[in-house]
Amino acid sequence: MAQLGIVNLRKTFGDVEVLKGINLEIADREFVCFLGPSGCGKSTLLRAIAGLEEVSSGDIVIDGRSVVDLSPADRDLAMVFQSYALYPHMNVRKNMSFGLSLRKFPKAEIEKRIAEAARILQLEPLLERKPKQLSGGQRQRVAIGRAIVRNPRIFLFDEPLSNLDAALRVNTRVELARLHKELQATMVYVTHDQVEAMTLADRVVVMSGGRIEQFGKPLELYHLPANRFVAGFIGSPK
Ligand code: ADP
Ligand code: MG
Repeated sequence: MAQLGIVNLRKTFGDVEVLKGINLEIADREFVCFLGPSGCGKSTLLRAIAGLEEVSSGDIVIDGRSVVDLSPADRDLAMVFQSYALYPHMNVRKNMSFGLSLRKFPKAEIEKRIAEAARILQLEPLLERKPKQLSGGQRQRVAIGRAIVRNPRIFLFDEPLSNLDAALRVNTRVELARLHKELQATMVYVTHDQVEAMTLADRVVVMSGGRIEQFGKPLELYHLPANRFVAGFIGSPK
């Protein structure tokens, strides 16, 4: 059974349909990248999965159970945003613990989870700093840490590396691959960068204009593109 199923999902803003019937099944622990040009609907789809965007029709299923009517907090997932979205007045520790405190987690459990996330992301020396005392890469790690402490089965990433410079992007990409192994979680990762998608993903979803053009392993897309759009976007010689 697929862990995350998306069934004929549609989303309309005013008169404009930006998701035109998305169907998809993602397996447990899979790393799936959504790749497509700006404006094709990647963020809208991710936000719909997270519960931050109401859908017009269709279903989202996690472990066989429909979640479209559940609040974001009641879906077994955590989202990492491109803009980091850290609380500027809170230090790193507080940024990571805040969501858990709201949900009334016991203090000892919160401490344990923060220590574990800080170890995984090498944030130990930075726990008492405020976001403005951190570099872009460090802020991104805090944003990922805030997702990790929730201990979700599914992570949603919306272009998490797009604000980092090229060298740091490569480093962080390697880190994300390691993180995927260590956390044994399902990762759904949106990007417009084909190198990122092709190197990170078990499978890649190529989107354009609110539709899925192809869903397959990186090499499949490269050697057997379904159409000219995919061929052009992936950069295959065909
Ligand atoms: P991507 O993440 O692939 O760049 P988005 O999902 O952000 O694309 O946007 C898809 C389309 O939906 C775009 O044309 C965008 O302008 C439109 N859109 C996104 N959010 C809204 C909104 N809140 N209201 C109206 N149109 C929106
Ligand atoms: Mg986007």
